[in-house]
Amino acid sequence: MNIFKMKSLYLAAFLLFSQCSFAQNDRGKIDFETYNPPSSLVVPEHVTGRAKFPFIDVHNHQNNMPSQNLGNLLSEMDKLNMKIMVNLSGRSGDYLASAVKNVRQTNAKRLIVFTNISFSGIGEASWTETAVKQIEADVKAGAQGLKIFKSLGFSVKDSKGNLVPVDDPRLEAVWEKCGQLGIPVLIHTADPKQFWDEPNAQNERWLELITQPGRNRSASDGYSWEELIKQQHNLIRKHPRTNFIIAHFGWFANNLEYLGKLLDSYPNMNVEFGAIIAELGRQPRMAKKFFDKYQDRILFGKDSWVPSEYSTYFRVLETEDEYFPYHKKYHAYWKMYGIGLSDQVLKKVYYKNAIRLIPGIDKSQFPD
Ligand SMILES: [Zn+2]
Repeated sequence: MNIFKMKSLYLAAFLLFSQCSFAQNDRGKIDFETYNPPSSLVVPEHVTGRAKFPFIDVHNHQNNMPSQNLGNLLSEMDKLNMKIMVNLSGRSGDYLASAVKNVRQTNAKRLIVFTNISFSGIGEASWTETAVKQIEADVKAGAQGLKIFKSLGFSVKDSKGNLVPVDDPRLEAVWEKCGQLGIPVLIHTADPKQFWDEPNAQNERWLELITQPGRNRSASDGYSWEELIKQQHNLIRKHPRTNFIIAHFGWFANNLEYLGKLLDSYPNMNVEFGAIIAELGRQPRMAKKFFDKYQDRILFGKDSWVPSEYSTYFRVLETEDEYFPYHKKYHAYWKMYGIGLSDQVLKKVYYKNAIRLIPGIDKSQFPD
């Protein structure tokens, strides 16, 4: 065989091989959202649609409470063993009063409404006084807490058009008033840190940012994630007589050691796990230690009212099941593991801590 012939043979073999491998790669590509193979793992399963103990969901939203058929809502809650729902979207004034009226006509023991303050006109001389009076009036009308949405720090502007930080001094009287009235402040600040990062292959929330592009934040949007979180912690530190329930584990569910240090520093800080159960379900041993240590400071919260999704929460908290699915791939492309909390800790998380922090709950609805 002459050298020319050998070269062309090599070339032909190379082309054939490279085409084969190209075709294989191409055929092997599956879309990330599509790839969701059923697990072949055989392990004990404890799927439940009903919590082991009656529970209080401190983070829920019902957007039409004044005219809603609350009887229907209660029967949905009964199926889950949800004894009390806290509706954080109570607004204020007449709307709140009619929501409370509807609750009292249905079942005053089962539904709780939190007030929301209006930030419009903040910076004007009378704003603080008006806001404080509104909270007093709403509590008199039946509100049992104050909810602050993430708009504070994201979009709320004062009368001069400046972004209002979470720890703005003009709001201090509001936090103090809640302390005096004995109502908790449930506050949601910022969003997962990954929303400030580039939506690329290195970002755990890539799918969420691609499917919900409005959640993507950049430096030009205002405060950085670090600034917002710091502002929230300033607020907790400056108002030690006010109880704060920090929504979504304060976005530190992926760093429980640090969250524990915060809880050690601020005795008036409490946390709820709305929308972050997938973070706990991927670190069952660390989470169990955290729940055991901070069992008096953690409350049950879910956020979006999708009854079928509660099952994942119960399974993560109550069982020691392994490698089971979560319901939203854009929160978690990983599987869940149960933490297996003791009854003592479960009871605190499910209702005892909420009873301690939220005034006016009828304890007789719950076991000791
Ligand atoms: Zn919420």
